[in-house]
Amino acid sequence: MFRVFVILFFLCVTAVLLILSAALLGGCTPKDPFEGCSCITRLRIIDGAKQNWALDHHKTTNDVPTWYDIRGYLSRRGEIPVCPAGGVYTLGRVGEQPKCSYPGHGVPPDQ
Ligand SMILES: [Zn+2]
Repeated sequence: MFRVFVILFFLCVTAVLLILSAALLGGCTPKDPFEGCSCITRLRIIDGAKQNWALDHHKTTNDVPTWYDIRGYLSRRGEIPVCPAGGVYTLGRVGEQPKCSYPGHGVPPDQ
């Protein structure tokens, strides 16, 4: 009886290891390049993209970029970050921080 349990135990461990290795090595390519980033980190990435866009295109702090304008500065594939909690981002002017519509999300004003 003990042998059966040992064999079942090792079968389960092997199955778990196979599943984990398949997830790590195989088709586990993140579709969201911002995966793991908090909302505030995403807002900072968006703000950095706005600043770089403004520098490259000689814009002032009062200019308002569109998502299309800054998507090349956000990620290699041009994905637009989405709030992990489901908030909606507003770009705003170059001179102000981007905003998230989710209550309590946002970059503190002194940063
Ligand atoms: Zn958010």
